[in-house]
Amino acid sequence: MRNKRIAVAFLVLLMIGVVALPAFARGPTCSYCDDGELIRQGDKYTDWERIGKQRCPIKPSEYDYLDRRLVITVWKCNSCGISDVWESPEYRVICGH
Ligand SMILES: [Zn+2]
Ligand SMILES: [Zn+2]
Repeated sequence: MRNKRIAVAFLVLLMIGVVALPAFARGPTCSYCDDGELIRQGDKYTDWERIGKQRCPIKPSEYDYLDRRLVITVWKCNSCGISDVWESPEYRVICGH
């Protein structure tokens, strides 16, 4: 009986601990097994690609170049082991003035 109580107290503590953990400490939930956590394996980048130009905010008579590249992030599930690849664009403005 006493042991059972200790076990319950421990479980409650564990639950409080899980809830108290900040959300960003956990990776995204795996969409394949709905149970595992995706662990970031690292980022890769494509080459910058020139996609256009826009008026320079410093020197309005000139143009700045607008570049784009893709950030490729590889995630791996710590439960089922599946890999997921996310791509998100990143932009930069080249100002030579
Ligand atoms: Zn998974
Ligand atoms: Zn400029």
